[in-house]
Amino acid sequence: MSIRHHLSDPLLIAYAAGTLPEAFSLLVATHVSMCDTCRAALAAFETVGGAVLQDSAVPLAEDALAAAMARLGAPEKREAIAKSDAGAKSDAGAKSDAGAKSDAGAKSDAGAKSDAGAKSDAGAKSDAGAKRLPKPGDLPAPLLDYIGGDLTAVKWRSLGMGVRQAILPTSKGASARLLYIPAGQAVPDHGHRGTELTLVLQGAFRDATDRFGPGDVEIADEDLQHIPVADAGEPCICLAATDAPLRFSALIPRLLQPLFRI
Ligand SMILES: [Zn+2]
Repeated sequence: MSIRHHLSDPLLIAYAAGTLPEAFSLLVATHVSMCDTCRAALAAFETVGGAVLQDSAVPLAEDALAAAMARLGAPEKREAIAKSDAGAKSDAGAKSDAGAKSDAGAKSDAGAKSDAGAKSDAGAKSDAGAKRLPKPGDLPAPLLDYIGGDLTAVKWRSLGMGVRQAILPTSKGASARLLYIPAGQAVPDHGHRGTELTLVLQGAFRDATDRFGPGDVEIADEDLQHIPVADAGEPCICLAATDAPLRFSALIPRLLQPLFRI
């Protein structure tokens, strides 16, 4: 996998420090599991962070770094991690602070209840596209752990023109969603308030800034008004994390915004 667009150092440092909102942690953990470059950079930041902690006389468990790295999900360790992490929700979940954790816990409880009825409906709807979705083994381990199954396990909603999204339950402060963009299709023009990270899981998209393929991360701030268009040939599937609601330029998508929670 030749990744050209990486996470920024501030993002990796914040992730190492455990200060990112859960949605961003999930995206960072997922990219890091796909990217040797960022995994190495993160290891360096974790080491520095550990040294800083030791300097300030806060004891750090001897195996803390090893444990942190193990949770990052090196590709060759996926199976082992999948087994050992059975209880832990995900790396992203493990990294969020205690407050966020209990919030996330409460959410997933609520989600479990309300999803029970909705699941069969969502499952039926997504069956048509299921053939073209990545197989569970093709999904990065942190994301697979987080959604607790493959891409048919999440609740897809149509955004029109074949574009679909699935909101993932995360703690407050940022939101995470999966985006499915049919081959050759554009996502409605939108700007941002705050920051939006988009990680390509499958396929590719292009916008005014560049082309983004598997593993690439686009870091968009509120100045970027962009129209991502999926490459022809195969659908593009992305994981996106946003720290504020998107602003769609067109009126109708804006009216739909509260409905879709994006
Ligand atoms: Zn990277």
